[in-house]
Amino acid sequence: MSFLSGIAASSGIAIAKAYRLVEPDLSFSKTNVDNADKEIGRFQTALSRAKQELEEIRDRAKSELGADKAAIFEAHLLVLSDPELVSPIEDQIKTEKVNAEFALNNTADMFITMFEQMDNEYMKERAADIRDVTKRVLSHLLGVQIVNLSMISEETIIVAEDLTPSDTAQLNRKYVKAFTTNIGGRTSHSAIMARSMEIPAVVGTKTATAEIKNGDVIIVDGLKGEVHINPSQEVIEQYLQEQKRYEQQKAEWAKLVNERTVSVDGLHVELAANIGTPKDLEGVINNGGEAVGLYRTEFLYMGRNELPSEEEQFESYKAVLEGMNGKPVVVRTLDIGGDKELPYLDLPKEMNPFLGFRAIRLCLEEQGIFRTQLRALLRASSFGNLKIMFPMIATLDEFRAAKSLLEEEKQKLMGEGIAVSDKIELGIMVEIPSTAVLADQFAKEVDFFSIGTNDLIQYTMAADRMNQRVSYLYQPYSPSILRLVKMVIDAAHKEGKWAGMCGEMAGDETAIPLLLGLGLDEFSMSATSILKARSQILRLSKKEMEDLAEKALQMSTTSQVVELVKAATEKNLLTV
Ligand code: PEP
Ligand code: MG
Repeated sequence: MSFLSGIAASSGIAIAKAYRLVEPDLSFSKTNVDNADKEIGRFQTALSRAKQELEEIRDRAKSELGADKAAIFEAHLLVLSDPELVSPIEDQIKTEKVNAEFALNNTADMFITMFEQMDNEYMKERAADIRDVTKRVLSHLLGVQIVNLSMISEETIIVAEDLTPSDTAQLNRKYVKAFTTNIGGRTSHSAIMARSMEIPAVVGTKTATAEIKNGDVIIVDGLKGEVHINPSQEVIEQYLQEQKRYEQQKAEWAKLVNERTVSVDGLHVELAANIGTPKDLEGVINNGGEAVGLYRTEFLYMGRNELPSEEEQFESYKAVLEGMNGKPVVVRTLDIGGDKELPYLDLPKEMNPFLGFRAIRLCLEEQGIFRTQLRALLRASSFGNLKIMFPMIATLDEFRAAKSLLEEEKQKLMGEGIAVSDKIELGIMVEIPSTAVLADQFAKEVDFFSIGTNDLIQYTMAADRMNQRVSYLYQPYSPSILRLVKMVIDAAHKEGKWAGMCGEMAGDETAIPLLLGLGLDEFSMSATSILKARSQILRLSKKEMEDLAEKALQMSTTSQVVELVKAATEKNLLTV
């Protein structure tokens, strides 16, 4: 048995067989063939196997993940049946007597280059389809297996170098019991997705893919951040007990599902949930979420080959608003960039993607994409209590520009006789230090702030949230972060506005007493953290937390702050 330690990214314990996710080796060389007809036959066999495989994946995706996730495979099937792609491949094999791998790659490359150069989103998306299906046919020619995440149909634990958010979106929670990765941190998006899907995860193990083989029995302990490889029966028994204890603890918290979150001295704060898709609503309701504090709409744009239409977006936003039954829903407009890529937009690679052309910067430039989303949101607004917020706002000019586009779309819709709510609050995420420092000015124009500490910490400390070598600098409890948070909350309150937090810090048990003391109005977190946070706040005194926060703000290091909260806990000041 061996053991790995990493970052506890999503709580819970899972025991199952490992399933390694590795990029297949599709390399080949150009060769000459004697019998062209035989080679064409080999190509046709690979083509029909690829089609058959895609049909199975499409059908499975349709029944288990929904028609939208299946559409991508439908598009791939169309490409495979297109004579404009298939005929030139066969012609080249015949006339030049080259191997099928070479002819396939050559023709596909020609189309990919041609489509990518077109100034047309639709054609660019077709390039991505061709790249995908080429890989699939090549895999059959070479006899190499390609992993289809959505096809996993037995209980497994995924082991990977990293999982992209779109990989994570394809995981079927019925079979994927947990995952573990070599890289990533608690606030990387695969970790965030794991929490919203309630899948235990340990990330940043550095060597999981090197040490774990396919079929090894592994335990992922998402509470402690540990992975056990081929554990003894004794360790398995221990973990089964541990799993039971955790379930009992959850059952205790579950009793609070219908309680309001009120401190012992009577202050109500709102406990909201972060979601990525309408499917996550079930978790919000089951965990007693009082609102949706962050709907990360970018997941609607991922794991597919083209932008979602206005209609499709409208349906998703409406479903969430109706599902929350009049409770607040804060929808964040598209926040693409950083570790959240949209390959079909074909944006140039950047040296520093977290500091680059992303989120509101992209939306203000690619106005077509942004306006479609705004229209869908405005149309959905009459179905519930919608609040809209813009991500990565660095300047007031950006906020004003985004607001005026929203206003323009609203006027157009009303001109078309479409109902739009007149009560939509408009806020911003505070993720960039410049915005926190200037919060007093922003507070005059926005309706609310939502502090995005996942990014605010990385930008304040200049420490990449994905890089565990600098994770020692990624410090939510640093007095510098606490002072920025205080500036934002105070600025909001001075103008009679509210301040929430939707970064992971909002659900952190060491941070919660401090945030309550600083006056945070809304705490938005993974749905699975809500009941635990509620049980904690129900036992805290707001007045005592104010004193605690006051002291923390005067500390000079993170460890002093942690010690302070710990000492207060031990003195029974905090009865958590
Ligand atoms: C944040 O930055 O804190 C945040 C909530 O946004 P995301 O994690 O999606 O970047
Ligand atoms: Mg962010």
